[in-house]
Amino acid sequence: MGASGLHKNKPKGKIESIGESPSLKRSNESFQNKTVKTNTQIIAIASGKGGVGKSTVSSNLAIALSKKGSKVGLLDADIYGPSIPRMFGVPGQSVTSNDGNSFEPIESNGIQLMSIGFVQTNNDAMIWRGPMLSQAINQLLFQTNWKDLEYLIIDLPPGTGDAQLTISQKANLTGAILVTTPQHISLIDVEKSLLAFRKLDIEVLGLIENMSYFNCADCGKDHYIFGEGNMESFCEKHGVDLISNLPISPELASYSDDGTLFLNFENLPVVSKKYQQIADYLITKMSSIEKNDSLDSIPVVTE
Ligand code: ADP
Repeated sequence: MGASGLHKNKPKGKIESIGESPSLKRSNESFQNKTVKTNTQIIAIASGKGGVGKSTVSSNLAIALSKKGSKVGLLDADIYGPSIPRMFGVPGQSVTSNDGNSFEPIESNGIQLMSIGFVQTNNDAMIWRGPMLSQAINQLLFQTNWKDLEYLIIDLPPGTGDAQLTISQKANLTGAILVTTPQHISLIDVEKSLLAFRKLDIEVLGLIENMSYFNCADCGKDHYIFGEGNMESFCEKHGVDLISNLPISPELASYSDDGTLFLNFENLPVVSKKYQQIADYLITKMSSIEKNDSLDSIPVVTE
């Protein structure tokens, strides 16, 4: 889509009222089921805590899958701190709607993006209450005109609140990948996420340890600043795969900040190789998972 078309039919209304926006009708169940094809693999990226690198992992995984030739969408459901628009170099862009019913995703380097950041483009502080939050995420997921996706990556809000659980159920996820840092405090919270997904009968595809170590350019050694070995015992205890351990990379952080992650992907050989391996892991894993396309059989969890 050209930049000139971006503000055409822009849905009006404040983000608090995304569900009640006068120009964007609230979705209904039959519409919901049509926008995401049942053969799209929908992968949630989740963490117990904020700030562990969940959005960074979501973005780079989307990039790695896309560079392997897959059609990829990325939903920034981290309503509390939408960072995907910035990471993809499209901050401040606004969504458009061609029919008043659905949002058009914003494309960056062939990846289809949707984020609350495209709906609310000013920096007003927002207060989200549970049902409103779930409704907003729901609309971003089901009222976006995703185009023939093979993979839809969902960057979930951190934690195990109502919104995370609701969307995890409604999205008919193929599975979830958990992101954590090595610290105990992060592991305690990611354990809660893992148990919540299992309660919902959602497959935990594996765990990624982010900011696992720092490679010193002077001595060439890897330094496990936040501790080493916690993850193996955690994964063994819970019978979950440790998919990867990613290094601390100041360059990665700065490419995220200036929106050049895609352009610089190959410029970080260690990091990009690890993300390609994660993408390969996922592709292989998908072939062993039979996707359940019946929304009826998803269990409903009550608190
Ligand atoms: P979350 O989505 O869990 O809140 P982010 O992906 O936004 O976390 O990352 C939080 C901060 O940490 C960002 O500034 C990001 O650039 C930085 N960051 C994430 N992963 C790494 C990494 N492996 N090395 C260095 N900085 C990282």
